Amino acid sequence: MTEYSRLKTLEVSIGDLLLGNGHPIRVQTMTTTDTMDTIATVEQSIRCIEAGAELVRITAPSKKEAENLLNIKNELRKKGYSTPLVADIHFTPNAAEIAARIVEKVRVNPGNYVDKKKFEFIDYTDADYQEEIERIRERFTPLVKICKEYGTAMRIGTNHGSLSDRIMSRYGDSPMGMVESAMEFLRIARGEQYHNIVLSMKSSNPLVMVQAYRLLVNRMEEEFSACYPLHLGVTEAGDGEDGRIKSAIGIGTLLEDGIGDTIRVSLTEDPEFEIPVCKDIVARYQSVNPPIRQSANSPIRQSPKAPIAEGANPSIRQFANPPIIKPPYDPFAYQRRVSHEISNIGAKHVPVVVADMREVPALTPGDLAAIGYQYNETTDKWNIGDAAADYLYTGSRLLNFNLPGTLKVMIDHSAWSDAGDKDKYFPVFQFPSFNESLQRSPAINFMAFNVADTEHWDDMLNILKNDMTMVACIECSAAHSMLALRRFIMEMMIRNITSPVIISVKTSGKSIDEQLIHFSAEAGALFLEGMGDGIWLCSNMQDIRNIKVSGRTYLEVKNSAQFLNNTAFSILQATRTRISKTEYISCPSCGRTLFDLQETTAKIRSHTYHLKGVKIAIMGCIVNGPGEMADADFGYVGSGPGKITLYKGKEVVKRNVDSEVAVSELISLLKESEVWIERES
Ligand code: SF4
Repeated sequence: MTEYSRLKTLEVSIGDLLLGNGHPIRVQTMTTTDTMDTIATVEQSIRCIEAGAELVRITAPSKKEAENLLNIKNELRKKGYSTPLVADIHFTPNAAEIAARIVEKVRVNPGNYVDKKKFEFIDYTDADYQEEIERIRERFTPLVKICKEYGTAMRIGTNHGSLSDRIMSRYGDSPMGMVESAMEFLRIARGEQYHNIVLSMKSSNPLVMVQAYRLLVNRMEEEFSACYPLHLGVTEAGDGEDGRIKSAIGIGTLLEDGIGDTIRVSLTEDPEFEIPVCKDIVARYQSVNPPIRQSANSPIRQSPKAPIAEGANPSIRQFANPPIIKPPYDPFAYQRRVSHEISNIGAKHVPVVVADMREVPALTPGDLAAIGYQYNETTDKWNIGDAAADYLYTGSRLLNFNLPGTLKVMIDHSAWSDAGDKDKYFPVFQFPSFNESLQRSPAINFMAFNVADTEHWDDMLNILKNDMTMVACIECSAAHSMLALRRFIMEMMIRNITSPVIISVKTSGKSIDEQLIHFSAEAGALFLEGMGDGIWLCSNMQDIRNIKVSGRTYLEVKNSAQFLNNTAFSILQATRTRISKTEYISCPSCGRTLFDLQETTAKIRSHTYHLKGVKIAIMGCIVNGPGEMADADFGYVGSGPGKITLYKGKEVVKRNVDSEVAVSELISLLKESEVWIERES
């Protein structure tokens, strides 16, 4: 967990494609067309392959779709595409048994391959439970035998939202339940000497997903002394920046751990748009010295001793401190690191957001709109949004206007002495130039430190230990910086240093996707471990505005400051450490989808985005939708052509509503449930 190395897994062949055992991390996606529409599915598959997909998954909800996979495969081969195809199976073993004779891989969901979900709690005796396992063995073994005979690979793909009633009754809605759900099927397959298996543990909640994969690796090593390859993904991640952030946090955290052999980013967008995001994520692990992981314009100045990543070879950059074999916390369960309170930072406070505006020329009250503060000149009052930054870093500038009450200023120590209002302005010290004799604030002091400067860890840790007003602002300019930051925070834990920590991440990513991925994987991973008391993002891209993908705006921002502020709040939301907005759990859509998911998601979002803390699921079909909605508060689920069924939690409240009025019916339901608030003008 503190030095990068890839987990060695068994080798699996999917057609001619090799997976696991150190082979490159493969990227894949899934078609959204009707599987019976051969031409549309072939054309979409080709668009995905051309974009770089190394595997294409196609849904096979019944025997006829499974049979049509042959036409799709033949058509693709005729056109010169040999990319392996994967059949996606839910509830229909007979479709799986047909597909396994046609395509290179089948995906089964152990939550619904044999079991039907009724949301019932059943109190099993051990003998009853064993009887259930035998029932699964009987139903699942024929598929295993076919796969073995035809050389077909298989993914045992557990989804958090669709655990069977049996698993839920025994293990609860937990990562352990997800792991056991897959292990039951894996043991049966191994009993047949069949090993061409990949596993996945998907969830729409990156925290659950990360814990489940780690636990699965742990269990496989314990039971088999070997690991099967892992397919990573955050399911129902949604669209736009939130979908990218959620996916990058979940997938990125595990890839940083060295876990993962193939990935899929599930976005509610056309599948070919998932591939560039996958590629950006994977690129971080393919190059010895990937450029987007470098800190080109760090706001925290480098110590002369700090190794600069540019041109450095990470293989020779070892930390002076030895790696930690057993972390000082449980990596399979969330606990927030214990920190002491300094003003509104640390202890039980939600992580604070630092807005870095030192590059904004001549800051005015109007500029603060980008970070959540609207100034009304007529009333001379500030309107504070839900995603309003807590601290403003101005470099060495003092401001010439009154600030909103909830916003404090971080300023370089050299300029801090000139600040009149010491309740509003707080000094930022740069580590190499820090001197014990310098004047400090009696309330809050910030110490910026680059953890790549391993020679000075002891000095930095002693400063933190000896000054209870000191907040650590840590970044790392070396490759695999998240691991180095995690190592530093572990060292704080080992030495019982409880200073709050602000995670500082800079990127010189060349595209918005690269930047979102970098921020999410680096900072998100640490928040998933309960390690951050604040977040401070910095980008070298000064002119960031609305970005469109396939005609739809996927990033709505006016400038770079707003982009960074939104991204920081979205990372905290995705790691569930600070909730500031509505959360959307929308399925990526597939051949079962009964309405235009992208358009409907956009419409629902436009009406409900202001409902802080409400989770709304938008699911394409009633077969999988209700099960996969996980912990959504409300569900909007396609239940037939032109028909929508609305859920409150797992309960149906309005069945088969006409889709023309379904969004307004959803709004009425939100109002009846007293979660609706009127939007401020
Ligand atoms: S929930 Fe969405 S992605 Fe899943 S099977 Fe239904 S339509 Fe397809």
